[in-house]
Amino acid sequence: MLDETHDPKRQSWVLSANGHPDFPIQNLPLGLFTPPGGGVPRAGVAIGDAILELEGEAQDGSLNALLGRGGQARQALRARLSAALAKGSAEQARLTPLLHDASACTLHVPGRIGDYTDFYVGIHHATAAGKLFRPDNPLLPNYKHVPIGYHGRASSIIPSGTAFRRPRGQLARPGGPEFGACEKLDYELEIGIWIGPGNAQGTPIPIAEAAAHIAGFCLLNDWSARDIQAWEYQPLGPFLGKSFATSISPWIVTPEALAPFRIAQPPRPPGDPAPLPYLTDAEDQARGGFDIALEAWLVTPGLAARGLAPHRIADSNARHMYWTVAQMVAHHSSNGCNLNSGDLFGSGTISGPERDGYASLLEATQGGTQPMRLASGEERRFLEDGDEVILRAQARRTGFLSIGFGECRGRVLPAA
Ligand code: MN
Repeated sequence: MLDETHDPKRQSWVLSANGHPDFPIQNLPLGLFTPPGGGVPRAGVAIGDAILELEGEAQDGSLNALLGRGGQARQALRARLSAALAKGSAEQARLTPLLHDASACTLHVPGRIGDYTDFYVGIHHATAAGKLFRPDNPLLPNYKHVPIGYHGRASSIIPSGTAFRRPRGQLARPGGPEFGACEKLDYELEIGIWIGPGNAQGTPIPIAEAAAHIAGFCLLNDWSARDIQAWEYQPLGPFLGKSFATSISPWIVTPEALAPFRIAQPPRPPGDPAPLPYLTDAEDQARGGFDIALEAWLVTPGLAARGLAPHRIADSNARHMYWTVAQMVAHHSSNGCNLNSGDLFGSGTISGPERDGYASLLEATQGGTQPMRLASGEERRFLEDGDEVILRAQARRTGFLSIGFGECRGRVLPAA
């Protein structure tokens, strides 16, 4: 639904918002922050280089209550904020004291995440990663029938800008496993999906209602220890190779802000099976996809020391998702599993079909066999200590103002 909040001509009296690549007045993402003086985290909305405090919206130190209120309440809040922050608004004088310089604030993980599930819907990633292990049969037979996922760890989800330690774990060696620092540390470029109202246990969410349970989106970096993962993942799936850290961008970009950038779900290639009826909905097929440019950038100590620009390591798009976010919600709850407000999904690595779109180092360096060369003279097979990965997302469409997600940044510290 498009309305005056998407009008590309609307400008804000917060001047840094006008022309801002991520947070013009057409975006209005929600977040949880602490101003420079400290204190209890507060709810806020990003507008240009500033955060407008939303009084009374952060309960129990999180945005869970706000997320749980659902689409109508979110849309009403958006309409109110858009009008109040628009040029010429009579509320400018009242709201000015509630503006904070975003660069001086601390941004937090905005929801109290009860459960985190990571999916695997990037079909080019699933194919490229599968090829490394099974050249003749990269996609397992269930892939085109089931939105594959695993239950991740919520406790180690950290906000952008938080550094984390290289994990230690069991590494397979010819003479038997050793315990040591991960030697194949990787990143994964993903979209995060925040759950809104949710469902009672035993009551699945039908596909036609699934979109109403999505409260917003962020960027998500599913840091992965490929050596720990390769040794431990069979038969029950990812465990300590993933659970040491997951970074997210702190702003929740709402479905309303992304309305102009929805696209039809790209048609399945000829010969692919149709999804089962509980995953099929005409409206979802017509509007359930997203056109969002996704990028990953690498900053190494060598690039930084020489003042060189970050190196772009992936250039992809959210349109490369084989399953829609609504299909993920419907499938997750289809067995009666209850989803709660503030739960978080990861999409899975969203790689493009070509080499420049490979959104993990596993793919880009072919399992570490084809190192990446950087302008600093450095080479990378996997991430080294001091390396920083930055994820970015931009939604663009002719006739509309582009909006972005803000950065998702994380830096690798040496193993303890
Ligand atoms: Mn992942």
